[in-house]
Amino acid sequence: MTTSIEIVELRTLADLNSLYQLASECTFTKEQYRTPLRPYRLIKAEASCQYQKHGRRCAQLHQHGYVVELHDASQVLIGNCCALNHLGLDDEQVRGQFKRLSATERQNIRRHRVETLLSQRQSLIERVRAANSKHRELQGRASAVLSSLPQRIGELLNNRWKSNALGISWDYQVVKKGVDEKGKPYEERHWYPHSFGTLKGLGVWLQLGGQRYQERLFEMRKRLEAIPTKSRLNTAELESAEAALNDMTELAVIERELHAQTTLLNDFLDPGNLQLTVQLVSSHQARADTVKAVHHLLGQSLDVSPSQYVAAIDLAFKQRYSTGAIRIAS
Ligand SMILES: [Zn+2]
Repeated sequence: MTTSIEIVELRTLADLNSLYQLASECTFTKEQYRTPLRPYRLIKAEASCQYQKHGRRCAQLHQHGYVVELHDASQVLIGNCCALNHLGLDDEQVRGQFKRLSATERQNIRRHRVETLLSQRQSLIERVRAANSKHRELQGRASAVLSSLPQRIGELLNNRWKSNALGISWDYQVVKKGVDEKGKPYEERHWYPHSFGTLKGLGVWLQLGGQRYQERLFEMRKRLEAIPTKSRLNTAELESAEAALNDMTELAVIERELHAQTTLLNDFLDPGNLQLTVQLVSSHQARADTVKAVHHLLGQSLDVSPSQYVAAIDLAFKQRYSTGAIRIAS
């Protein structure tokens, strides 16, 4: 009897043919059947069912079935449906054999998957460690940025990110004076928008503390380290190993997220972008405080006072549109 596990999962008809001497032309009846050899789940429905029902070969192409052995030792294929519902009809012993074999096969596949992954356990632990230190670094940088900026600016950035309202614009007023057709002088005041730009680099890093990344990484590492290093795990150990390894999908998500947030934070710290934060509020004092924070973050010194710096922005804005009145867009 062939019990080869050289191929852990039988996925194609070619896999079946490489392990068994299949008598593909043969058609068999229940009387010829002796025992099941191995179940399979193929990727495509490409196995032809050799069971004979209603006097002829079933011939249904199927994905899920069994290699079985006949009394004359030839090896043939039967689809899952024929195996359980025709060959196994009213025969608990035959049905039971098929079901037990399928359960064992599933368990073997599962064990193999876990054991393969476990051989990389050390490198998985290293990945968790690396993600953890990347998280610490990102958290350090993010909190340095947020604690430098006035608290109000941090809140506004958060709101802007959440509502995806990234454009920063102010309005300027244009006064039109003239004389109407009756010779009467008139004055019209209109506000027009001016965009200072679009904020970039906002993201989860603005509230990294709320993400529980660190706790999750810590749990992952604990679970990985708790798996016994012996080669053959018992069922309970296999289950906890499987749970630990299932965490690795989440690890990949966290790794990607940390990378993405680091990139976003770098984008946010681009000097031109950082400068936009000065225009997030209208209060002169708050803007002056922001100017100070921005220069601190950029490691640049200011050659005028923050207040003068803000006044210079406003003056340039007013001169550009020859206007006396500007206001933050509501
Ligand atoms: Zn069939």
